[in-house]
Amino acid sequence: MSSATELIHSIPVDPLTGAVSVPIYQTSTFVQEAPGVNKGYDYSRSNNPTRAVLEQLIAKLEKGATGLAFSSGLAAIDCVIKLLKTGDEIVAVDDIYGGAFRLFGSVYAQFGIKVTYVDTSDTQKIFDAITDKTRLIWLETPTNPTLKISDIEAIAKIAKASNCLLCVDNTFATPVLQQPLAQGADIVVHSATKYLGGHSDLIAGLLVAKDPVIGAKLKFYQNACGNILAPFDSWLTIRGIETLHLRIRQHCATALEVAQWLEQHPLIEKVYYPGLKTHPNHDLAKRQSKGFGGIITFRLKEDTEAAALEIVNNTSLFKLAESLGGIKSLISHPMNMTHKSIPAEIRRAAGVTDSLIRLSIGLEDAEDLIQDLETTFAQIGKTKEKKKAFAEASL
Ligand SMILES: *Cc1c(COP(=O)(O)O)cnc(C)c1O
Repeated sequence: MSSATELIHSIPVDPLTGAVSVPIYQTSTFVQEAPGVNKGYDYSRSNNPTRAVLEQLIAKLEKGATGLAFSSGLAAIDCVIKLLKTGDEIVAVDDIYGGAFRLFGSVYAQFGIKVTYVDTSDTQKIFDAITDKTRLIWLETPTNPTLKISDIEAIAKIAKASNCLLCVDNTFATPVLQQPLAQGADIVVHSATKYLGGHSDLIAGLLVAKDPVIGAKLKFYQNACGNILAPFDSWLTIRGIETLHLRIRQHCATALEVAQWLEQHPLIEKVYYPGLKTHPNHDLAKRQSKGFGGIITFRLKEDTEAAALEIVNNTSLFKLAESLGGIKSLISHPMNMTHKSIPAEIRRAAGVTDSLIRLSIGLEDAEDLIQDLETTFAQIGKTKEKKKAFAEASL
């Protein structure tokens, strides 16, 4: 059976009524026949039938034992860190999602958990950073925004040998393109806000543990800390996942076309897209994943904030917004948005230079998106000519 067919039929028909769509069990509690005797559900923080469908679905898609759904991607990340204790260390990807950086540095640092950040696309650097206190390796691959790829299989071997867990934030790739647990990782987390939800209409997080013992610990923390996904948002996430295969296929095809167009444009200095042969990790990306995703970043020849603002403020189909993975294409300027709180020198050293622009390719036709960029770029040329003519005229 193809994975698309399997995905669609992994979502069960309601056993009670035959409803084809998963029912939304909007209830806090469940009637018990006698104290402690119930139909598998007693209170919706602990277990809810709608959430359970989503949790089993993501476990199946990621090929793990236990799936759990949270009120945001960060809540899922937070749950994983609760496996650690004071004195433990994490080795994490240096291009990490800003919210995870804040959680590690401003919340868990207070509890004595230390994080070392390295360029995980260089496996040796992880090996060198591990100490006898390291308990967790944290990857994002591809990373945001420069789309670096890390070798999950090689890093999983280092994790095993060092008695560490390996957790992969699989938000950018989704299980359609990449299944980290099958490549040796122990835990996968998702911001389901992005591709899994897919319609920019909810905030949700998911995690999957390969081993049921670790899964049970995480399930304990989910219930003990209470950061669960509500029934309606669980339903929305299931509804999003139903079309995940189709959407990802289209995101990938369109992104490749746009990336190739950008690469030959005279205003562009560099395009970051793992599907391009010029990407430094292209071969690894090809080996490790079934496609290259829907995110593209690029840097202008004129590497200034002003030049980038002229573009991000003037596209019409690409909407200026944070986030990614929805049906509408989005454009963002990391310097002034996602990476605003990072000091300029550190930001630039990580490749997030002043003109860097990120695109989240939606489900519009490639030719329309290219036309939008073409019109915007042409306008910049005209503004420049006008300014030059004005300057010459006033001499
Ligand atoms: C958005 C995002 C998160 C955080 O998810 P929320 O749902 O916003 O809490 C974590 N990791 C990555 C890679 C993300 O893009």
